[in-house]
Amino acid sequence: MSNLPPDRMIRTDLLFPLQVPPLKSFHEEARFFGATRHDSHRNVRLHAAVDLLGTIGTKVYAMADGITGEFAPSFYTKKDQAVAILHGNMTVRYCEIKVHPKFQYAGVMVKAGEEIGAISVLAESNSSMLHLEMYDTITPYHLTVYPPAGGQFRRAGTLVNPTSMVEQAARNSCISLPPPAAKQRK
Ligand SMILES: [Zn+2]
Repeated sequence: MSNLPPDRMIRTDLLFPLQVPPLKSFHEEARFFGATRHDSHRNVRLHAAVDLLGTIGTKVYAMADGITGEFAPSFYTKKDQAVAILHGNMTVRYCEIKVHPKFQYAGVMVKAGEEIGAISVLAESNSSMLHLEMYDTITPYHLTVYPPAGGQFRRAGTLVNPTSMVEQAARNSCISLPPPAAKQRK
């Protein structure tokens, strides 16, 4: 196992990026941070985000005031996009969405809670989600880094485990996160 970046609370004031709870817990199946993925060459990579499952068109909101950085016109597939936003002392990358045209450029100011896009179609997948990555950096660019430099996450070394910050954001926005199915059955 590679070194998992620590689950760190860089800030506690973030808002949840959806106005509805995700459809399933991001602690299970392939949705949690560090979950194992296999690419077409059977190489292992690790999931650099938490996945907030939602229906196509579910609106996505900025977690804090910020300024846009890198926009990716095709992120996971050719149909979905990503935008990195600098939120003060950290960067959040909102992925697998359709980014609002206004935020498809770097250097655009964003207000906390402002609509930045919507969950998009994911080709080759039956599900749709906000794939949410967090970085301890004030440089919201070049976040995808191929091996060997990018390690098993294939990301910049400033990647952090977003789990606690996303859970805190849900509390801040009064969103009740679905419990893992395994716990629900007890
Ligand atoms: Zn994901």
